[in-house]
Amino acid sequence: DGKVCEEDEVLGEFEMMNRLGDGNFADVVKCRRRSTRTVHAAKIIPKYRVYRPETRALMKSELSVLQIVNHGNIIHMHDAYETRTHVYLILEFVNSGDLFDMIVKAGHFSEADARAVMYDMCSALQYLHARRIIHRDIKPENIMCHRRPDGGQVMKLVDFGLATKVTGPLFDVCGSPTYMAPEIALRSSHGYNVEADLWSLGVVMFVMFTGFPPFNIPLNYDKITSAHYGEPDLTSEEWVDVTEQAKELITLLLQRNPDKRTSANRLLRLEWFKRETRALAARRRQSVILNLQQFRPESRRSSRVSIATISTAANPSSPEPPTPTITTTPADELWSLAASSNTIGSSDTALPSPQLLMN
Ligand code: ATP
Repeated sequence: DGKVCEEDEVLGEFEMMNRLGDGNFADVVKCRRRSTRTVHAAKIIPKYRVYRPETRALMKSELSVLQIVNHGNIIHMHDAYETRTHVYLILEFVNSGDLFDMIVKAGHFSEADARAVMYDMCSALQYLHARRIIHRDIKPENIMCHRRPDGGQVMKLVDFGLATKVTGPLFDVCGSPTYMAPEIALRSSHGYNVEADLWSLGVVMFVMFTGFPPFNIPLNYDKITSAHYGEPDLTSEEWVDVTEQAKELITLLLQRNPDKRTSANRLLRLEWFKRETRALAARRRQSVILNLQQFRPESRRSSRVSIATISTAANPSSPEPPTPTITTTPADELWSLAASSNTIGSSDTALPSPQLLMN
């Protein structure tokens, strides 16, 4: 469970090292626990960035999900701390960058490599979906690679900032447009469910094989129409030497009707995952690297649309205030982040409440 403490206590326990990355809400810093000398990644969330009730609810949701998951292909959270001004998530350190970095650094990418990534991610989704947890932001930047001392590598799903427990259909538009399932982007009247993650994984798989996305989705989610989701083209030159089993998997994932998408559990039983590796390893895909070098910077700019960023876009005149705001809340009430589903701090309700959830 999370600990409420002073800033000095966290810094006394962990030596902060170099910055590993940053996102919309958090800075991620490599750190070392002084007592054990073990290296971790600290995801540091300044509270002023999660001031709005919606963003705060997302952070609580991230925490509550990370507290219950335990799987080799999902980032592990060791500890969580809350100070007056920050929330610190102490995560397992992943040492080899994200999927894009991995492909570009390797200089080549074979069908066997893609299969290993897909196996790990289907395993992660099987685990999450069995527990009715949806990630909602599956994309190459959130699939990280960890190299083990024996030279093997394992993929880890990170960034649970949009993850949530599913108790019924969801309706909030969130995710990254390029990877967003059509039932989310087109605001299906039935809402959406865990199958949305499988669509995103299908887009990731397509990118791994070609270096570019299957559909030309506008970055402004408001402009997305059903016409943007045609049939994925599996006939271009990038697909010439790809096995039929790999194409079958992409087709099963990129089903526009979520009810027709095959579950992660069943995908793991596909023939493709059982095939002999050497033949697949020989299918090296140089063009992927060249295409990715063009698509990657573009993709990184097209950051995710979270519920919070939608609200900012809808209310450009009311940006997040620059100072921490819940300093008057008693310390023992602060750590209701994971436990309570209600918004912390009555002061929040007095703030302009943006329109955010689209129906
Ligand atoms: P975003 O706004 O992009 O969703 P965020 O604020 O939710 O980001 P994360 O995506 O979780 O933050 O982390 C930001 C970056 O920090 C990642 O893209 C990655 O490069 C790095 N990072 C995150 N977690 C780890 C980790 N456990 N080990 C090493 N690096 C990490």
